[in-house]
Amino acid sequence: ILAMKPYSSARKEAPGKGILLNANEAPWPLIDSGAGAGAGLNRYPDPQPDELLTRLAGLYGVQKDHLLVTRGSDEGIDLLTRVFCRAGQDAILHCPPTFGMYRIAAQTQGAGIVSVTRSGDDFALDEERVLDTVAGDDRIRLVFLTSPNNPTGDMPDDRFVRRLLDASEGRALVVIDEAYAEFTRHPSATALVPDYEQLVVLRTMSKAWASAGLRCGSVIAQPSVIGLLRRVIAPYPLPSPVVGLALRMLQDDMLGAQARMLERISDNKRTLVSMLENRDFIRQLLPGEANFVLLKMDRASELLTFCAERNLILRGFPADPALRDCVRITVGSKDDLARLADALDEWETLT
Ligand code: PMP
Repeated sequence: ILAMKPYSSARKEAPGKGILLNANEAPWPLIDSGAGAGAGLNRYPDPQPDELLTRLAGLYGVQKDHLLVTRGSDEGIDLLTRVFCRAGQDAILHCPPTFGMYRIAAQTQGAGIVSVTRSGDDFALDEERVLDTVAGDDRIRLVFLTSPNNPTGDMPDDRFVRRLLDASEGRALVVIDEAYAEFTRHPSATALVPDYEQLVVLRTMSKAWASAGLRCGSVIAQPSVIGLLRRVIAPYPLPSPVVGLALRMLQDDMLGAQARMLERISDNKRTLVSMLENRDFIRQLLPGEANFVLLKMDRASELLTFCAERNLILRGFPADPALRDCVRITVGSKDDLARLADALDEWETLT
């Protein structure tokens, strides 16, 4: 990656001004894309639109040159793995049960996967084993921590994060995936980025900005790391209608609406938790800090089918032995939750 000369796209060389005869585009659009992202659909979009960078950097409280906009955090995870893990030599560390894309990205790249599994009834993170493993295995280039974790909802402790950052210095990057950070009151790790070159934070508009369909994520790290990712990211990752919509979403007048949405989700989560709390078939309920809960029960797959027959789609994990008896439920609308309550009442009377 360091040795290669990165591709230089037409739009990078001449950022969209003047009579554009340099990118083999059509001279006119056929339809009005309506997204208000500057040039029409006939033009390639800006690879990293300055206004969007400014808005996202402001939102996350970081400098613009510390941020790369990506097609969701999924792309950030993929880029990090491709840039920092050499196939057949390097490895990632993750702590399953956790988000599955760290493993997929590593497997796609041909990188090793070191798993420090979570243990016990509440799937606690094994902090000491993570630290020992990072110190003892010099193949590890990326350590993925998820805060809050999907699907267990817990968050790594601040002191542990700092110890891990110290242990990783000069060895590995610590990637803190904060896809669900807005659902907690906990301060984001973005504030630590200026102090640690080995820290990467992933944020996304998919969850707390109600915009999973946009595919708009941010990788936040020092410019030395961002610069390497920019060498391999696709020349035009962000479609112009997406940029237009993201900018609309991030206008100052949307902040209030977003805060109200988070309040409603938090209120609905209280409803969901109290609706689940006293049900005998649930062995354990992990409410966690995010917009979902995890429950453990016997006959999890039967419940999933039972609910699906009633048009209620919950998340099961049949392929993962550690989660085989778990069901993850996303916080929905009050109506969704009422429908779920009816289905669970029915399940209880039948079982
Ligand atoms: N990280 C975590 C922990 C997730 O749960 C998800 C989505 N389920 C992602 C990243 C991917 O997010 P995005 O939509 O931004 O690609």
